[in-house]
Amino acid sequence: MSVCKDLAGQKFGRLTVLFRNGSNKHKKVIWVCLCECGKITNVITTNLKNGDTKSCGCMQKEIASKMLTKHGFANNILYPIWQTMKQRCSNSKANGYKYYGGRGISVCKEWENNPGAFIKWAQNNGYKNGLQIDRIDNDKNYCPENCRFVTHRENSLNRRPYGKISVKHVSIKRGKYIVEKRINGKTRNFGSFQTLKEAEIKINSLKRNNWVESNE
Ligand SMILES: [Zn+2]
Repeated sequence: MSVCKDLAGQKFGRLTVLFRNGSNKHKKVIWVCLCECGKITNVITTNLKNGDTKSCGCMQKEIASKMLTKHGFANNILYPIWQTMKQRCSNSKANGYKYYGGRGISVCKEWENNPGAFIKWAQNNGYKNGLQIDRIDNDKNYCPENCRFVTHRENSLNRRPYGKISVKHVSIKRGKYIVEKRINGKTRNFGSFQTLKEAEIKINSLKRNNWVESNE
């Protein structure tokens, strides 16, 4: 067992240390603390000493809600966009989570807990009513370098196959866009694609060639 100073009775922000409660799996000493709001919370020594943890969590909640009302972000049209982006990446019950958080996509530090920073960036980077946020590289995070605003149509073109689709000659099977057409009573498959854009390029080239099946 590691030797450590007894912190009982000391105060760190809103927390008063009550007693030691063993160590966690990383061998860090845990302290049971009483928050000014009345809640009990467990904190490791370093988080108390370097000021990372100053409350049971009530302080951050107050700051966040103050920020929202102070700057009126909650009423900003971009706020729900920020919220949805965050949910998709962090809430496993959110719509589409498996394509975002589930694939390791996250929101950058700068935006994660700061709707104001996101809103400011959006306003300076081409946001207009009705546009959607799009990640330039599908495998990278939500961050200023990888995001832009696009129309709904542009966004669908870059999206991974998901749900149902109502584009002529395209269906979704096993996570791919399939280009197909009924020719002489038989459905011919003209290839499968990662994005709708690629599928559309294929369709356009097939149309130019009168849908002749290629052997490539
Ligand atoms: Zn508290």
